[in-house]
Order: sequence, then structure tokens, then C-alpha cells
Amino acid sequence: MAIYDPKSLKAEEFINDEEIRDTLRWAEEHKNDQALIREILEKARPVRKEKGYTCKGLTHREASLLLANDDPAVLEEIYRIAEEIKLAFYGNRIVIFAPLYLSNYCVNGCVYCPYHLKNKHIPRKKLTQEEVKAEVVALQDMGHKRLAIEAGEDPKNNPIEYILECIKTIYSVHHKNGDIRRVNVNIAATTVENYRRLKEAGIGTYILFQETYHKESYLKLHPTGPKHDYDYHTEAMDRAMEGGIDDVGLGVLFGLELYKYELAGLIMHAEHLEAVHGVGPHTISVPRVKKADDIDPTQFDNGISDEIFAKITAIIRLAVPYTGMIISTRETEAVRSKLLRLGISQVSGGSRTSVGGYAGYSNDERPHDTEQFDVSDQRSLDEVVRWLMENGHIPSFCTACYREGRTGDRFMSLCKSGQILNCCHPNALMTLTEYLEDYASPETKAVGYRMVEEELKKIPSDKVRRIATEHIEDIKNSNRRDFRF
Ligand code: SAM
Repeated sequence: MAIYDPKSLKAEEFINDEEIRDTLRWAEEHKNDQALIREILEKARPVRKEKGYTCKGLTHREASLLLANDDPAVLEEIYRIAEEIKLAFYGNRIVIFAPLYLSNYCVNGCVYCPYHLKNKHIPRKKLTQEEVKAEVVALQDMGHKRLAIEAGEDPKNNPIEYILECIKTIYSVHHKNGDIRRVNVNIAATTVENYRRLKEAGIGTYILFQETYHKESYLKLHPTGPKHDYDYHTEAMDRAMEGGIDDVGLGVLFGLELYKYELAGLIMHAEHLEAVHGVGPHTISVPRVKKADDIDPTQFDNGISDEIFAKITAIIRLAVPYTGMIISTRETEAVRSKLLRLGISQVSGGSRTSVGGYAGYSNDERPHDTEQFDVSDQRSLDEVVRWLMENGHIPSFCTACYREGRTGDRFMSLCKSGQILNCCHPNALMTLTEYLEDYASPETKAVGYRMVEEELKKIPSDKVRRIATEHIEDIKNSNRRDFRF
């Protein structure tokens, strides 16, 4: 039997089934131990230092115990701490991105995904480089600066060379004042050599959802194709890091397996990356299974309510305080609103999940033929940006960290240093100003400029505040763009 070892490079040892089961048993036994719960909540709280804050995070056992507890007062406390952590390390900024679907050709058999090989009624489509350009122009015209590219797994139709070519094309398009400054990549698990090539192509985060940490279920949910190999999939982040990518994004597709098992597995994965590579995941995504062509989410027995979903999100925030957290347009405006208060730091906006879903369509039209899943939040990017601001969040289009080489542990140290208000905050305000000047509706622009003026006052350093104010004036009065600290 495999023995639990967070430092091991073997999937069955760092995501150890026996350790997860034992954790869940232990959490059930101790879930009403008031003293232990108090101790865990105290441990999770951010502590002020001379400069910035520090936070200890939680182990997978501690996180599982909080998840097992049903006391509403404890839940309220978890929510309060989650918001404190979010504000301490990420401030009131919310980073914005959009997915770009390159190809839905896929050789895998994932039973929850409409792109599975056996789905014969979904049209298969792969963007040509001309089409990639058109999509990028459309995304730039909306105001996007960050993309997450998505593709099925198909070595013939979407080999790594195709993905690399698309990345090159995306970075090469400069339409009006627009450009895409960070391309995150969500493609199937691959080799160290291919991760190295992705790194060389200048990608931001490499994102790969585990879907489920439960091996037996995983094998059933991925019955055919290369993705069937649980170990290869689970060990992908180690290969990515070996290939030089130090920002990796984890995620579970909630609804497939029992959520308590998934939370323990997810936190163990983060602990493993920290133990082996000295840096945890850059982001964690929390997608839930959605209706799609050939897919009925109710066929999966483990769907979770909005309440449990919020609780999981908040507990992840407590467990891995320095990791960015992403919520997509799979969720409704109402769910997104709630989660934004519980630790989410990135949202997608104006998203299309079909191949070629942006160019040539107005905001009210959306092609469904090649769509990966139903988008619940169908508002335009302008509406999302205004909504964020009206709720006190600063929409940020910033990509400075990765472009200044602040990735991996260098990003984490910035996060911990308390310099966020002198660095990320002005960067967010400058990129928001670019958005307001170049793309926003008059209504959004009015709300935005009021916010920029108020938020500039919060920059502690006189020098930084002065420079940021000058750059903002420059953006308003010229075509100069892309200032950053
Ligand atoms: N093909 C790549 C892979 O296998 O990892 C990644 C790209 S796929 C377009 C991105 C993610 O969409 C998957 O990892 C999965 O979690 C999610 N997804 C698939 N089907 C879904 C559905 N019906 N509802 C919600 N999310 C889904």
C-alpha cells in the first residue's frame, strides 16, 4: 500500500487515498471540538507585521475539520476571516480575464465534457491563425489584456506546435491601443519538454484542473484517451515546474465526486507543490459541472449547493492565503457576488466558451454549436467592470508581475511584503484607466473615474502616488499605454 508523503513525486503518495480517508474520519470525529476549531480559526487569521501581513494557512486536516463542522456561527467566522485574508493580500482588486477556445478536437472520453470523442453531433472546429487574430482583435476591442487559452487534447489536430503558434499570433496582435499581455494556458497534461516550450513562448500560468482527486472515480470519468492516466495527469504540475513554469493553477470540477474528498485532495496537492518546489499554486479555480451539449449535470450524483460551494471557497481562502482564486462565468452574477467577498481574486468577463465565439458576434448573440458549457453570467465585459466597481472592487487588467519576472516565489514574497498598496494597487488603477479611456461606456467611465480618484488617495508612498497620477493623466491625454511599477 502506498504511504503518504507530500515530498514524493508519485501521485499515489502525495495524493494518498488512505491519508484522505483518515483525514475525513478524523474530521468527522472532531468536528464539534470547540477548542480545536477555535485554535484553527486563530491560526488562519492574518497577523499584522511591521510591513504587511503574514498568514499561516491551514493543513488539509485543519481545512477538512472546518468543512465538517456545521455550526452557523463558525461558518460566519470562516467567512469573516476569508474576507480579511483577501483584503490583506489582494486588497479590493479583482483581476479580469477571458477564455479563448482554440480547438474542440479531442481524443479523450471525459464523460462530463461535450468535447469527448464519442460526441458525434458537436461540430469540430479549430481556429486558423487568421481566425485567432480575429478573435484577439474582438477581445482587445472589448478591453481584455489577459487570456486563458483552452483546447481539447488531440495530438494530430492540436499538437503543441499548433498551441505555440497560436500563442505567438496572440502576442503579435496590436489593434488600436490594445494588446494581450499575458496568455495563460489550459491544455492537457504534457511532457517536461513541451512545458519548457510553453515557458519559452512566454506563457503566464499553466492551468490544469485535476477534475477529481479520487482515483477510482477519475478512471471511470475518463474511460478512454490519454487523460485516462490518473498518475500522469496528477503529476503534471511537477513536470511543468521541472520545465521551468513556476506559476501553475489547480482546480477541481465540483460535482463529480464527494466535495469533502476533493477539498482534502486539493489542499494536499498545494502542500505537495510547496514541499517539493518551495512554492504553492499560483491560482486555484473552483468550477462546477454545467449543462452542455450531450451533458446533463444531474447525471452526476455529487452536485453541491450554492451554500456548500461558498463554504468550500472560503475554506480554500483560509488554507492557501497567498494563492489567487478564480471564478468563471459558469456561475451566476448572484453566486459570483457572494464569492467575491470570500476570497476570489480573479474573474472572467464577457466570456464565450465556443471555438470562434467572439469575432463577428454582438454582445447579444452567442454561438452555441461548439460551446463547451452554458455560460450563466452572460453580461458584457463593460457590465461586469461596472458591477465590480459598484460593489467596491477595483477591476484590474494588470499583468505587471509576470512581465517584470515576479513569478513563483517572487510573486509570493511581494504578496507577503505589504508593498501591494505601493505596487499592485497603482498598477490596477493605471490599467483600469486604460480600460475606461479606450473601451468603457460613458456610464462605466463615470463610475470608474470616481473610483480611480478615490483609490489613488490610498497609495501610501507620496512618490508612487505622484507617479501614478502623472501616468493616469498621460493615459487620458495621449495614446501612451502600458505603464507599470
Ligand atoms: N482539455 C484540457 C484538459 O483536459 O485539461 C483543458 C481544457 S478544458 C476546455 C477546461 C476545463 O473545462 C476542464 O478541465 C473541465 O474541468 C472543464 N469542463 C469540462 N466540461 C465541463 C462542463 N460540462 N461544465 C463545466 N466545466 C467543464
